[in-house]
Amino acid sequence: MQQIRKSMPTARQRMTAAKSARNRHSAEQKLVELKRRLREISDLTAAGDVLNWDQATYMPRGGAEARGRQCAVLYRLAHEQAVAPGLGKLIDALAHYGESLPHDSDDASLIRVARRDFQKMIKIPPDHVARANAHGSASYNAWTRARPANDFVAMVPYLERTLDLSREYSSYFAPYKHVADPHIDYADEGMTTASILKLFSELKSQLAPMVCAICEQPVAEASSLRQAFPKAAQFEFALNVAQRLGYDLNCGRLDLTHHPFSTRFSTGDVRITTHVNENDLGDVLFSTLHEAGHAMYEQGISAALDGTPLGKGVSAGVHESQSRLWENVVGRSRGFWEHFYPSLQRVFAEQLGSVTIAVFHRAINKVARSSIRTDADEVTYNLHIILRFNLELKLLEGELRAKDLPEAWRAAMKAELGVAPADDRDGCLQDVHWYSGYIGGRFQSYTIGNILSAQFYAAALRAHPNIPSEIASGKFDTLHTWLRDNVYRHGSKFVPNHLIERTAGAAMNMTPYFDYLREKYAALYRLPVSFGGNSGTLPSLL
Ligand code: ZN
Repeated sequence: MQQIRKSMPTARQRMTAAKSARNRHSAEQKLVELKRRLREISDLTAAGDVLNWDQATYMPRGGAEARGRQCAVLYRLAHEQAVAPGLGKLIDALAHYGESLPHDSDDASLIRVARRDFQKMIKIPPDHVARANAHGSASYNAWTRARPANDFVAMVPYLERTLDLSREYSSYFAPYKHVADPHIDYADEGMTTASILKLFSELKSQLAPMVCAICEQPVAEASSLRQAFPKAAQFEFALNVAQRLGYDLNCGRLDLTHHPFSTRFSTGDVRITTHVNENDLGDVLFSTLHEAGHAMYEQGISAALDGTPLGKGVSAGVHESQSRLWENVVGRSRGFWEHFYPSLQRVFAEQLGSVTIAVFHRAINKVARSSIRTDADEVTYNLHIILRFNLELKLLEGELRAKDLPEAWRAAMKAELGVAPADDRDGCLQDVHWYSGYIGGRFQSYTIGNILSAQFYAAALRAHPNIPSEIASGKFDTLHTWLRDNVYRHGSKFVPNHLIERTAGAAMNMTPYFDYLREKYAALYRLPVSFGGNSGTLPSLL
């Protein structure tokens, strides 16, 4: 009896409990309202994305002008809602409640990320967004004409304006240490110009001797890939492989475009496109695996996060790690082709019937210094990125004038890769990035993706050492499930550095990447495993 009486709440305690229940109820109602608003923003954006997908795939050319207008309306409406003062008030009112919830719960993460996004968005004046978008599409249209005509001079005024707009964008985030920092942070939150420069300097010191050692060996024969392969059979084979990896066609589809891409409308609808070249079998195989990797990430995000800012991949670099893991680490491995090569040979018996798996495997992993980034192999690829990153910094700093870019490009190509492009079309006009948006933060994500692809894969192998033998027998479930549980399902709940530490058990570091490259290319080019120096234990980068 005494016990019961002791635990009876006092009147004051009852009032406090009632007040806190009312507060909780009010916060929960506000959270419902926040989710409703965020879903509307997400739906407007997705509707614009559907129109963009349609434009890239099936829309007749005559629809371009009206389509540009229609997309602009939808994205403008989404932007207006994303910076509405009412949304800001709602987020502020929920800040305290969000902090009272467990940090990694969906609701705490949603309130935290919505607040961060809102605070970033309101710094950018709407008229800047409108000017930058209009200039971006004008510049892109000009580039589609200038590149085939090898006419860099026509792009100089566009580039100058792009640089002005890029610096203007950064100015809204002042103070910063480097003018490129706000752009880098936008793509790869938590990274800076200084941290990327440190990463690239270490990377280059290891990669350059590796490239030299490989290029001293006999050149790999790749002519088996450059025969005439019927396009429909190529498409069908690539789609079948993507499905076998785990790309779900009930929640996606594959179409043809000149430049392959993946796009998400919801967890239940993540589409990819690919490119088929009759005379290069590698094109369709690896662009499909790459885009399927991006799409499997998006398909694997928890459905509970759909329609919120958490329902998408966390950063450009982590996204690239997923496409490259499936494309390169898995899709260019010997084990993968132990399983798929016999069926590829059956489909293309005339072309590949007498080509051994060893020759085919060497062909799809041929290392060569070349002018074009998108054709580059795994070993030289990062040198193309380092070159672009350094030029971006010089352009933004004003040290390099837009008109002097072709010459600077050629000099950098010779210094980094030992080759010079024949013309600007295959030189500084080759990538769309600088001609379709800002300059700054546009390229580092590819290299971060390469590094992380090996680090995530190594972590998956620690948990499941049998993954390579499963891949060689055509089973991808264990790897796919591990990635879904450790990377995909979280969407954007955790900032990239936090996600990497949770998943890989350590901050981003290059040791697994160098180990992966050395082991693979030592076998392919008959080199000692320590070729090009030894990575040893590198310090973590972040
Ligand atoms: Zn990609």
